[in-house]
Amino acid sequence: MEEKLSEIEEYAKEKRIPIMMKDGIEFLCNYIKEHKIKRILEIGSAIGYSAIKMALVDKDIKIVTIERDKERYDEAIKNIDYFNLNEQIEIINGDAMNVSVDGMYDLIFIDASKGHNIDFFEKYQNNLNKNGVIITDNLSFHGLVEDECLIETKNQRGIVRKIKMFIDYLDNNKEFVTEYVAVGDRISISRRV
Ligand code: SAH
Ligand code: MG
Repeated sequence: MEEKLSEIEEYAKEKRIPIMMKDGIEFLCNYIKEHKIKRILEIGSAIGYSAIKMALVDKDIKIVTIERDKERYDEAIKNIDYFNLNEQIEIINGDAMNVSVDGMYDLIFIDASKGHNIDFFEKYQNNLNKNGVIITDNLSFHGLVEDECLIETKNQRGIVRKIKMFIDYLDNNKEFVTEYVAVGDRISISRRV
């Protein structure tokens, strides 16, 4: 099991697929365990790595995860099959902005295109249980958000601007209170007030 997980990590590295960083996913899994989270909605599955890690926390956990890239989706299916987690993980191939998901979740994990966090947050808060949380990844964008001197491309500048807008949005959101945790690429944890 550990071996296959390392293999997936290697694959992601080779193909430059931005799966969660080690301490980030560890934190998330511990959070799920501590808060007895059972229903999870993930935006951005990539090759299924984080979904698999979260599902392995407890066999009562059910995850719905959305990935728009067909090649990554296919790879995720293979990986989920390998771990025999088909009963626990349902993966949808589509753009999360167009997909409609029913049901309510204890955790919504946003880890997709960094420029659309506000859209995802607005759309999927309707699927959040009363005491649920929305966790969003990559608020540091590898340090570029804190240190703009590191920005090299126009594309990066656009993403940094949008991440800052998202942080502003969270800080000014009257319905949610947000804390930030410096793990992985920095995450936010938002819960209803
Ligand atoms: N959560 C994964 C990593 C996700 S990487 C892990 O830690 O293992 C981000 C993924 O989001 C990419 O594979 C990208 O294709 C996908 N993505 C980006 N925008 C999306 C959208 N609008 N709808 C669905 N998937 C999206
Ligand atoms: Mg991420």
